[in-house]
Amino acid sequence: MADKQSEPPPPVKRYRREEKSSESEEDIDNYEPYVPVRERKKQQLMKLGRLGQVAAEVSAETKSSSDNDPDDETSQEEWGRRYNVSLLDQHSELKRLAEARALSAAERQAREEQHILESVAQSKALMGVAELAKGIQYEEPIKTSWKPPRCILELPPERHDRVRDQLMILVEGEDVPPPIKTFQHMKFPKGILRGLEEKGIKKPTPIQVQGIPAVLMGRDMIGIAFTGSGKTLVFTLPLLLVCIEQEIKMPFIRNEGPYGLIICPSRELAKQTHEIIQHFVKHLKMTGMPEIRSCLAIGGVAVSECMEVVQRGVHIMVATPGRLMDMLDKKMVRLNVCRYLCMDEADRMIDMGFEEDVRTIFSYFTGQRQTLLFSATMPRKIQNFARSALVKPVTVNVGRAGAASLNVRQELEPVKAEARTVHLLQCLQKTPPPVLVFAERKQDVDAIHEYLLLKGLDFANIQHVINYDMPEDIENYVHRIGRTGRAGGEGVATTLLGRAAESSVLKDLVHLLREAGQKVPGFLLEMIGEPDVPAPDGQGCSYCGGLGHRITECPKLEAVQNKQASNIGRRDYLANTAADY
Ligand code: ADP
Ligand code: MG
Repeated sequence: MADKQSEPPPPVKRYRREEKSSESEEDIDNYEPYVPVRERKKQQLMKLGRLGQVAAEVSAETKSSSDNDPDDETSQEEWGRRYNVSLLDQHSELKRLAEARALSAAERQAREEQHILESVAQSKALMGVAELAKGIQYEEPIKTSWKPPRCILELPPERHDRVRDQLMILVEGEDVPPPIKTFQHMKFPKGILRGLEEKGIKKPTPIQVQGIPAVLMGRDMIGIAFTGSGKTLVFTLPLLLVCIEQEIKMPFIRNEGPYGLIICPSRELAKQTHEIIQHFVKHLKMTGMPEIRSCLAIGGVAVSECMEVVQRGVHIMVATPGRLMDMLDKKMVRLNVCRYLCMDEADRMIDMGFEEDVRTIFSYFTGQRQTLLFSATMPRKIQNFARSALVKPVTVNVGRAGAASLNVRQELEPVKAEARTVHLLQCLQKTPPPVLVFAERKQDVDAIHEYLLLKGLDFANIQHVINYDMPEDIENYVHRIGRTGRAGGEGVATTLLGRAAESSVLKDLVHLLREAGQKVPGFLLEMIGEPDVPAPDGQGCSYCGGLGHRITECPKLEAVQNKQASNIGRRDYLANTAADY
């Protein structure tokens, strides 16, 4: 809120231009989800073309490097026999070979990995059309009127480092704002403090201690912390604060907004986020603050419902990419006053193939915005994705990106595939209900469901997660077990390990268990077929974050590429997914 001593300039101006609203109520009711099939297919083809090209390059590269193997004499012999080649050509070729040999294996690997990574990270910048056209690059973060309280500003930098050390917060970036350990010192208004109280939230979690001040200061941010660490409040509370400030200065009028946009990879997550916002909106209103309006733009919720709020002037929109793109395309919403963009679960967003959609959404922005990116895992694919969109970002990392929650006791049990359903019954005894059971294949889910006659799942307070099978990649494992052990509570995760699990993901699992200080059972090492798994070299896989393999053997990347290949020509499939979101 505005500081009494110094009156800084208003943070971000909203300019009002009279715009004719093109859509009538009728248009909204006749809303038909937009299906850009041709466009999507073209993109798929382009991606595939690029992937094919890179694959060809990589195979050419490995071929030439094996030719260059000094131990491999046949290549030399063959070369010697090619007497019909000119001396000059022979000389330059030999020189090339010698140079190539000098390239150490490590360098070759690094280069190959970089190649693959570039092929999956698009080069198109995340920018608005106008920014692209005019070549605008923002150099400075957005300014807000929020400042840390004097009592925090007066503390020496060593204190800030100490707090970060104690809470295991890693920060990167220029002029990182100080960590603040109480919500009161974050200068939140009474309504928000009451809302926190009602939820039983007393003090900020580590990601909140460092993340909230950074967001309040207007900084772009990448926030990484395990699931259940309280990331949602890091981007919702500061947004509510600016919205209140804006509303007091110049109330939102018809068709104006949104000021803040939150993009989520799933409807479920969007709904939950919206509910949290509504909770605080209610408490703010009860303390006499102006009403903050928010709406949900997701598949499965009538567009008219969302448009009702938009027409009254909307402060916050929570959306899934497909539906939002669609509404932008139809000019139902505009981002001309949008100055706050948050992408929650950015890792999932990319995995689910929304990268291109997010780029399109970015192109609708007309001014600088504060951009925030949240993720439980932080493989390099996201850093690449974020690089062009963020201005002097602060990176806040609590625990290793992709690490498993320390609150979960991970138990692994060797079970034959056919004995799993019965074994499941025993596992269910470990904790009182509810228990969440995950399985890779839909038919297994149906079978389990039938077997247990589970009627509906309650997602709150889950103490036990059972993996009926090991997920295909370690990121998914981390996400699944993160459904328990939330908000400091203790949880149990049981994984039934059969023969079907890939050894690559099992190696990742061994590293993950060690990292979380948990027991690695002997049978797991036996399954991998190695007496011990050596410590990871460097960071492990730069694509999925698994510590047990490199990007060159990433099962997840392979699956993504296969999926892209098989999607070509599947018109119905593409049409359905587009309509879904
Ligand atoms: P994440 O997005 O990091 O997975 P959430 O934001 O969904 O985590 O929060 C997980 C749970 O923790 C929620 O139930 C939330 O109410 C609770 N929570 C958030 N912040 C705190 C806090 N400071 N203290 C206690 N519980 C909290
Ligand atoms: Mg979250």
